[in-house]
Amino acid sequence: MAENDLMDKIVSLCKRRGFIFQSSEIYGGLAGAWDYGPLGVELKRNVKNAWWQSVVHHRDDVMGLDASILMHPTTWKASGHTDNFIDVLIECKGCNKRLRQDHLKNGKCPQCLATVFSEPRNFNLMLKTSIGAMEDSSSVVYLRPETAQGIFVNFANVVDSMHRKLPFGVAQIGKAFRNEITPGNTTFRTREFEQMEIEYFCRPEDAPAKYEEWINARYQWYLDLGMDKTKLKLRKHEQDELAHYAAGCTDVEYEFPFGLSELEGIANRTDYDLKQHAQFSGKDLQYKDPVTNEKFYPYVIEPSGGCDRATLAFLVDAYHEEIVNDATRVVLRFHPKLAPIKVAVLPLLKKNDGIVDLAKKIKHDLQKDIVCVYDDTAAIGKLYRRQDEVGTMFCVTVDVQSLEDQMVTVRDRDTMKQERVAVAQLKRYLLDKLK
Ligand code: ATP
Repeated sequence: MAENDLMDKIVSLCKRRGFIFQSSEIYGGLAGAWDYGPLGVELKRNVKNAWWQSVVHHRDDVMGLDASILMHPTTWKASGHTDNFIDVLIECKGCNKRLRQDHLKNGKCPQCLATVFSEPRNFNLMLKTSIGAMEDSSSVVYLRPETAQGIFVNFANVVDSMHRKLPFGVAQIGKAFRNEITPGNTTFRTREFEQMEIEYFCRPEDAPAKYEEWINARYQWYLDLGMDKTKLKLRKHEQDELAHYAAGCTDVEYEFPFGLSELEGIANRTDYDLKQHAQFSGKDLQYKDPVTNEKFYPYVIEPSGGCDRATLAFLVDAYHEEIVNDATRVVLRFHPKLAPIKVAVLPLLKKNDGIVDLAKKIKHDLQKDIVCVYDDTAAIGKLYRRQDEVGTMFCVTVDVQSLEDQMVTVRDRDTMKQERVAVAQLKRYLLDKLK
């Protein structure tokens, strides 16, 4: 399958089956903004929950935070975003498209292959708005371009309230906004997106080891959720790619149909951010060792991932086509933790009240512990195909026999094998399989 065809198929499935819609589509859409439909929101929430579990709940040394999107404008002066968060913008003289200079392909416009461009100019990616009743320069605030700064400005609050000793981390999931010059590839590059970021504070001498630990932990997270290892790469940044304060950065990249692209970056940011905020706020943001009373600025390791990019990568990775009985079966082979629907309960005959009632009863009992749906809008073969196409782990079918023996047929998405299971044991059976 040509790679663009594959992406087109996935985008079309996403729309048709309620994963991802274009934002404000009835008005022609808004570039760089997307909406998650009923199945997309479940999938994305599962991605976020899996991340939170892995980096907060399953560890001893990381706590969560939820900082506001609007922050004091000096935050962005201190972090360097006001002056340096820029892309170099050029306009192609061939097709008049505005481009990022670093997105040229061998000096050519990726759209029309022209080689003549306007003078480059710096373009700040922060989205501005204003707060309060007066719209003057004193009311200007920015929609945060990253969640990380919300963690740095709360460093002292977290230390004081949680009494943690180094090393420890603070994790956050939240919206970020960037006025991207060329949003594209569906939810890969958008102007409004969600980040999943950790700032992990440690003693300066421990930073190199913690940096390596986090690279491995974050790479392994994608693999543990079933991502194809042959498509997941680590790329160490060259010295000339690093920000002046960074002591190292490694990207986790995924082989999308449109090319190898960044899912997440893990950086050793040294003590730059805390020192900057201390300088601009006049507050002492040093860490005081409770035993030795020694004061110093911790170093920070930052694993910074995109929730939307991870979700898109899991979708692409899950997409499979196979031939079954001379027909193409499309199946999303999501990891059980990520599948938006775990179980579909299907009555074999929707005209039989007994079957329908039992199927609905089973669904209502299961839904207290397992995300499930009931569907009786087509014949069973079609219902199976529909559930495969959205990655539902199991289909439970209720038939005439079920009314007599209180057994149902459970079909496994991946093997398509069917098994008879007693209704009384069904929830336990499914919960065990979903583990
Ligand atoms: P890129 O080089 O692709 O623009 P970046 O290196 O600027 O990304 P970071 O600033 O390191 O990205 O942001 C951390 C993570 O946030 C990225 O790895 C990505 O997953 C996500 N992210 C950044 N920009 C966007 C965007 N415009 N749309 C969706 N996700 C994004």
